[in-house]
Amino acid sequence: MSTDSERARIRSWVDSPQARPASDTRVRDALGAGFTHDVSGGYRELGARGFEGGGPADVMAPCSVLAELTGQALEAGVERLTDDELVGVLRAARRVASWQQAVELAAVAELAERRVAEPSGQGPRPAERVSAEVAAALTLTSRAADAEVALASGLSRLDAVGTALRRGEIDLARASVFVAELAGLDSLLASVLADRHVFGAGGRTTAQLRQLLRRAVLAEDPEAVRRRQRAARQDARVETWPEGSGNGAIAGRELPADRAILADRHIRALARALQQAGMPGTLEQISAEVFLALLTGQAPGSLLGSTGQQGDVAYPAAAQPPPEPAPGRSWPTGPLSTVHLTMPLSTWLSISDRPGEVAGYGALDAWSCRGLASTLAGQSGTRYCLTVTTPDGYPLGHACTRTPPPGAAQPPPSQSGPERAPPRGGPDDAIPASAAAWVGGLTVHWLETGACSHPRQTPAYRPGRLLEHLVKARNPTCTAPGCRRPAQRCDIDHVVPYHQGGRTCECNTHPACRRHHRCKGSRGWQLAMPEPGILAWQLPHGRTYVTRADPYPI
Ligand SMILES: [Zn+2]
Ligand SMILES: [Zn+2]
Ligand SMILES: [Zn+2]
Repeated sequence: MSTDSERARIRSWVDSPQARPASDTRVRDALGAGFTHDVSGGYRELGARGFEGGGPADVMAPCSVLAELTGQALEAGVERLTDDELVGVLRAARRVASWQQAVELAAVAELAERRVAEPSGQGPRPAERVSAEVAAALTLTSRAADAEVALASGLSRLDAVGTALRRGEIDLARASVFVAELAGLDSLLASVLADRHVFGAGGRTTAQLRQLLRRAVLAEDPEAVRRRQRAARQDARVETWPEGSGNGAIAGRELPADRAILADRHIRALARALQQAGMPGTLEQISAEVFLALLTGQAPGSLLGSTGQQGDVAYPAAAQPPPEPAPGRSWPTGPLSTVHLTMPLSTWLSISDRPGEVAGYGALDAWSCRGLASTLAGQSGTRYCLTVTTPDGYPLGHACTRTPPPGAAQPPPSQSGPERAPPRGGPDDAIPASAAAWVGGLTVHWLETGACSHPRQTPAYRPGRLLEHLVKARNPTCTAPGCRRPAQRCDIDHVVPYHQGGRTCECNTHPACRRHHRCKGSRGWQLAMPEPGILAWQLPHGRTYVTRADPYPI
């Protein structure tokens, strides 16, 4: 993976990862996950066999021939296949299944259309009648049949998505994400967004695709989203139900997004403090205890005593009364500054309603972003990072400061009062001079591109704060194929290990979650970074997956 020609080849793919022409003879990834798979030795037009990487069956569109080939592979015994061929077979089987799912849903949609066209008289609605027929034909529950009919109808208005499913470019799970996320839009806007995002959807996991579409819907029709939110807020409630295991569940539903995020972070901050004080259990388990304690009027500190565990010096255990934090330390009382909110500057300044996102939560509408930013501005220790991006959202530079721009993060509207009129938004809205001066006063550190000149390299193992910010700004999530773990909760990994002379520099470090960090160090895994921010993961089955970060919300 380290030769120059290898790097040049990967770079040539990455320059235009989704814009390769159909006639391109390199391998096209029908079902990747934000990456493109490489074929060792390149595509061999002659001599590529069967299901191995780049072989005819590995790249064939789904059809009766491919179905026959996958069937033969099973008949002959999959244990005879190499790792590479196995991966080729499983990908081909998924494409064939997608093609057949498209057939099934088209048949359901046609049946539904016929029933709609018939006079229904006093009987049940057409959708209910067709659902009953589908339930009988496929032996489904009413609920499952309803879902099948809804999916078929939703898909029938998104031509591009139906075609991609039929061609095996996306699978049923991705098609379902399109239908669900675009359901609230009128047919025209829904099909426009489907057309725009279906190309490349096969290269995204369902979570990535959902995030992308949610952002797009928020950006295209924020008013509709706001109306739906306001209507659903009427249905705010607390639900309890028995879990399948026999345990109980309790959840708040239809809450204001920014306050739900803050509540979650508050629980986790308390749980972390308790864990550090010696409370046994995983962070999730302790968070659940904190959640219950807060809801039942119990001081979270008393949890240390109630478990019978000895607290450490900072939080001595005592059942009654709840322990006081040791001198000089205090229980977190408000949300800690561990909310990582990313939003376009124009949203922050209230001159657009473009959505942002919260690490670990996902896309967040503009008004919730502003509410959250305003709350965070009231917290001591809040930091502000500005990432300069290309027009399509890829990071170019980064600056850090402790002061927000003037005019940003105004107090959110009161909970019961009328909401502010939406900002106008649009290209004519200039950034106010005071905010422009704030931007101009920041020191922007430009990210290295191509060959790195190592301006921020440090001899230490750990990157300093600036280098860490740059590395995480460039890759806001774990760089492993399909992984969405926010960079804030990732390790900074050296591609070439530090003890083997790997630099602590942009060109050799990237965020990797604990799981993928461990995988990378295990047998059969290899990682290369042909240029900063672009990672080539070679997996034990021999194929290489190239990843780069998704664009920022812009
Ligand atoms: Zn920063
Ligand atoms: Zn470097
Ligand atoms: Zn990961």
